[in-house]
Amino acid sequence: MKKPKLLIVVLFQNLGEEHPYYARNPAPPLPGILLAGLTPPELQVEVLHEMVRPINYATEADYIALSFMDYLAPHAYEVARRFRPQGKIVIGGGKFASTFPDEVQPHFDSILVGEAPTVWPTMVRDLLAGQLKPRYVADPAPSLENIPPPRYDLVESRYAVAIVTEATRSCPHPCTYCALNIRRTPFRMRPIPDVIRDLRNTRGVPWHKRKMAMILDNNLGGDLSYAKALLREIAKLRFWAVGTQFSIECLRDDEFVDLLAKARCRMAFIGMESLNDRSLHAVQKRQNRVEEYKEFFAKLHRRGILTFTGLMFALDEDTVEYYRRLPAMLDDVGNAVILSSIAIPIYGTPLHRHVVAEGRITDTDLSHYEGDHLVFRHPHMTPEEIFEAYQRVNRVFYSVRAIARRWARIIAMQVREESWPQYLLRLAVVSFVYLKLSIFQRHHAQVRVFAASGQALAQPPADGRPWKPACASLA
Ligand code: SF4
Repeated sequence: MKKPKLLIVVLFQNLGEEHPYYARNPAPPLPGILLAGLTPPELQVEVLHEMVRPINYATEADYIALSFMDYLAPHAYEVARRFRPQGKIVIGGGKFASTFPDEVQPHFDSILVGEAPTVWPTMVRDLLAGQLKPRYVADPAPSLENIPPPRYDLVESRYAVAIVTEATRSCPHPCTYCALNIRRTPFRMRPIPDVIRDLRNTRGVPWHKRKMAMILDNNLGGDLSYAKALLREIAKLRFWAVGTQFSIECLRDDEFVDLLAKARCRMAFIGMESLNDRSLHAVQKRQNRVEEYKEFFAKLHRRGILTFTGLMFALDEDTVEYYRRLPAMLDDVGNAVILSSIAIPIYGTPLHRHVVAEGRITDTDLSHYEGDHLVFRHPHMTPEEIFEAYQRVNRVFYSVRAIARRWARIIAMQVREESWPQYLLRLAVVSFVYLKLSIFQRHHAQVRVFAASGQALAQPPADGRPWKPACASLA
């Protein structure tokens, strides 16, 4: 008998359906393939990442599960509204659904509140029995033991990396803009053997993608002893390239850097966010010290670990003068790649409460809270000044000439610690990862920063249909 089919859709839609889709990230987000791994075998599963493939509304799937972040909620509601009249049962989940369930629930047949592993198998059982309840709520901080491996065989082929997993959840820092600080949960770690099992589980993955992996934690360095123990085990797997993410103060620990290099970490995402100490303090990002950046980034680059650094615009203490100097400052500290965005007062965060209390929100359309729109009034700068700076920094940083110059500088910094063949492999991988990330970000700058959002800054939605929250806590 044919099994019923579940289509898991990881939403990513801020380009408009008329635009081409592209893999802004080298690897898929974890939720879709993790949920597929948790799904009992009674269901046939497909995972669709909207970042790289449009939704097929004529799918033969019986059930649809939508995973989405806050700014994608209006889009998620629209997707659910198109599927439900076809008789499909549509389930919603993700951080926003978990934070504002009363807002989200009316749009779905059922929602999953919290982390999926302990609740999803029960939901599927009820779904198949025709007894699906409107809401399933997980423990606020469930154990991370015995989570099955993600379904790497279902990763879209357009992602350069297929092997992605997580080792920890949450983060010990209090950054006021971070969604993790809407409702803080304790920093938790998975058993190291479980993480290693995931990384070895390459069945169904094309051979050329078996040598690269990403650990998609919020902050791998939340417990450095654990991180070091894990990196020692990862080093034994002899990947060509591993990517991960951690907060910058971890780089004060030389042993941590050494173990990253031994594990063949080739890309570290770091929340640098600003080169303005006053702005960093204002958002409680006190673990970042601007005077340390240059030394830290060089320390990583010498070992073949590229820095992929977040950079936020429109933080409250930023000024026109700061942005005038920013391109030269970035050149001096030597970031390899930046991920730039305009500051987002995510609903429910301490930053959002602060901006609301000062009456500075100018745009309540949730779909604009994606990092390319300015949705609040800045205390010192006009929207035009901010957007001019946002464009100019991206234009300078992602010019073809600047990309080539940074590549040459990083290659020249490499220190050989291994045999010549391994060293040459390292140079090739570093070049590949650097160019791939730079091309993704340059493309994003061209599609979103230069072309799309200039007119949209602090403007009401052009189609005259602003998103209206159903939930009082969001209104
Ligand atoms: S360090 Fe990063 S993950 Fe941790 S709270 Fe700050 S922004 Fe969030």
